[in-house]
Amino acid sequence: MLLLLVPVPASARPIVPARACHADAGPQGGWAAVVAPGKRWECDAGGWSIGGTGVDLLFQLAPGHSADLPRSLVTQASRFEAITVWTFDADGTQHSLRRRLAEAGNPVAGPFVTIPLPPVTARTTHVLVRIERPWSKVTASEAWLDTDPQGTGWTIRRVAMMAMICGLLIVPLLLNGAFYGVLRERYVISHMLLTAGILTQVVIGSGFLRLISFVTPAFESPLSNACFALSGAAGLMFAADFIEDGRLSERLRQLLRATAPLVLGVGLSTTVPLEALRPWAALVMHLDMIPVIALIGLVAIAGCRNGSIAAWFLAAGWAPALLVGIWKVASYLVPSFRPLDALILFHLGLAAHVLITTFGIIHGMVGLRRERDDATARAIELESVAGRDALTGLRNRHSIERRFDDLFRVGFRTMAVIDLDHFKAINDEHGHNVGDVVLKAAAQAMREDADTRAIRLGGEEFLLLLRGVDSAERAERSRRAISTRVATAVPGLDRVVTASMGLVEHDTAGTLRIEFEPLYAHCDRLLYEAKRLGRNRTMRERVTAFSPPQQSRALG
Ligand code: GH3
Ligand code: MG
Ligand code: MG
Repeated sequence: MLLLLVPVPASARPIVPARACHADAGPQGGWAAVVAPGKRWECDAGGWSIGGTGVDLLFQLAPGHSADLPRSLVTQASRFEAITVWTFDADGTQHSLRRRLAEAGNPVAGPFVTIPLPPVTARTTHVLVRIERPWSKVTASEAWLDTDPQGTGWTIRRVAMMAMICGLLIVPLLLNGAFYGVLRERYVISHMLLTAGILTQVVIGSGFLRLISFVTPAFESPLSNACFALSGAAGLMFAADFIEDGRLSERLRQLLRATAPLVLGVGLSTTVPLEALRPWAALVMHLDMIPVIALIGLVAIAGCRNGSIAAWFLAAGWAPALLVGIWKVASYLVPSFRPLDALILFHLGLAAHVLITTFGIIHGMVGLRRERDDATARAIELESVAGRDALTGLRNRHSIERRFDDLFRVGFRTMAVIDLDHFKAINDEHGHNVGDVVLKAAAQAMREDADTRAIRLGGEEFLLLLRGVDSAERAERSRRAISTRVATAVPGLDRVVTASMGLVEHDTAGTLRIEFEPLYAHCDRLLYEAKRLGRNRTMRERVTAFSPPQQSRALG
């Protein structure tokens, strides 16, 4: 796009007149208008006015222009009632032709209308154009004579540029839809309206709308104004919601929200086709940009000073469009300037605004995601703290009961309940503190790994859930390891601390399902048996599932 901005000599051939002047249209037309006594022709840049019934433009053709005879008048598409063109020859012959807006030509390559010229010959010296009741100064100030009867229109570079701006705007519009699915924030809706409003303006301002619809020029300009108002209001709402909480004073936020409907209302009022509104419509559209530009500037400065990242995105996004906007407004309001449309630059600025603020939204999403990940990590941490026994660090009964079904399904089908022998005596003889150290040492004998879950059920009773073909052997090794672990941790003990174990294994195959409680009760019965038989031993059982009934039928 930057490459396309590099100026090249235009291949278009607008006629360069020897002299171009303009004046308020008087009561008379034709040559009488040109030579009317007291008529004040302005022949330099300024002095444009649309307050009266119309504007006269007088083009004096350069001598020897016969190689490039003008064939049409081309001007910015906007609202006007009619355009009349007179041609005057040196011998006094004059021709004229009048076209109402609805009869004007609408070339596709550019937001123009064209009016054919009456016969022009090598002897033609002047072309007089009367624009009746124009709604915007640029209809008069941007008019030119062209060698092409259709109007030369835009160069392919300009068309490509506008097409690219449209493309640039469609992407954020689609992204916004996706963002809203994730964020559910009001500012995404505002941004979507902002983008849609700007996109429609570009589609109108580029003439592309004429490719896909029958919208007439009389309709294009009010539609464009309405979209401008919509995007302005949406932009203000976006700023009000997008700047982070606490980074903008409530007063400024309220001011943004209150200005939005005003901008929308004022903008929509300029689309009403009332003759009384005509001289004011374009003026109002330009004037109401001034307080908005001031407010936006204030908000950006305040937000940035309060450390708002969003405000930096807004400031960067607004800057290009605002600069072009200020230039446009100044050219329209200052009488000695020529009113400028600066269409491409303005649209480019608006597209930049949409793109940069889209990056702002993405940046916000990344931040939200980081916050969410942190919160998830904290929740996991809290859950694991809550699911652990404070003394030994092993899982507690609640955490394992909750997940028992899942664990059983993924193969944890061996349960062992381990109880220290005569633990009460240790407490009694060595004190509760030594008892605690013994419990911690015993817990260390029950190492967790990918195939083992260790739980402290309460007191000096532990539970192991295991999977794998050697589950029972591993549980047995853990039980035996308790004695050495405790001996190492508490050297002064006068006895060997042993443990008894009740263990139940299930066949690894089959669809058998079992609940935590009955399995635990089964283990507990075996543990009681081990205690009864003299402690420091394991009682184990293996449960083999019966074949499911449908399978036996199939075999039968
Ligand atoms: P048995 O061989 O029949 O299992 O006898 P035992 O003494 O190990 O069993 P009993 O149930 O009679 O005693 C368990 C003791 O464990 C009673 C209780 O004070 C003690 N205990 C429970 N929780 C803790 C704890 O967190 N720390 C300490 N130090 N002792 C605890
Ligand atoms: Mg015990
Ligand atoms: Mg016990």
